[in-house]
Amino acid sequence: MNGKPFFEIRGLTCNYRGIPAVRDLRLSVGEGEIVTLIGNNGSGKTTILSAVCGVLPDYASLTGDIIFRGKQIRGLPSHEIVRRGISLVPEGRRIFPQLCVEENLLMGSYRRNPRKTELKNTLDEVYRLFPILQERRHSPGGGLSGGQQQMLAIGRALMADPGFLLLDEPSLGLAPLLVQEIFEIIQRIHKKGTSILLVEQNARLALKTASRAYVLEKGRTALEGPREELLQNKKVRDIYLGESF
Ligand code: ATP
Repeated sequence: MNGKPFFEIRGLTCNYRGIPAVRDLRLSVGEGEIVTLIGNNGSGKTTILSAVCGVLPDYASLTGDIIFRGKQIRGLPSHEIVRRGISLVPEGRRIFPQLCVEENLLMGSYRRNPRKTELKNTLDEVYRLFPILQERRHSPGGGLSGGQQQMLAIGRALMADPGFLLLDEPSLGLAPLLVQEIFEIIQRIHKKGTSILLVEQNARLALKTASRAYVLEKGRTALEGPREELLQNKKVRDIYLGESF
């Protein structure tokens, strides 16, 4: 990576009521990169994304630096972080089941307060990416299939027109064909110029998608490097790719 990273975390520590979840973490994402964070349940992946987006619970304490486009963003309110260009697709989608698809999408843009034409253009772009959402735009979000709800969650995050997209476990609970479809769309979003930090338990899929990866164990970085290097790493192959049997 040349010059200053687009996004950088330095010495991040997060405790929940004094119990550490993330310890002295360092991570960077270059402009236009897809970087993945892999690790077992409870290793701290969601905590890191929540810390970046300003959505940790009140009882969590946070120290260290989170720098986006050269500016400190740690501790800023979540709406300010969205305004600066970072959007989160949370684990478990968290769509609004009673609201229709289009209302769910519009919820993603309200913090940015765009002009009407700009809003329409962004909505059209999301519908081009996910034609099924356009087809079902008047249906309640809760009536969509799991894959469609994941599309809706991604579409809602895109409505804020982010330069940096954080995805938390996009493959969770989806059938293999749908996972493939979602990951093709993630690649398309990336090709359009969005930088991505992808949290994914499916390490094989994550390493196929990203150019670099961090392996997290008990809140600390256990390994990091380019995709090719980690794919050759014995520990990654044994533990995360399940190749030891
Ligand atoms: P998963 O894949 O299960 O989502 P993860 O890698 O995202 O796991 P986190 O959810 O960040 O891990 O959890 C890291 C640690 O922090 C775990 O020990 C978890 O029990 C704890 N933890 C997470 N959220 C909270 C919370 N809101 N309050 C207290 N402890 C929490």
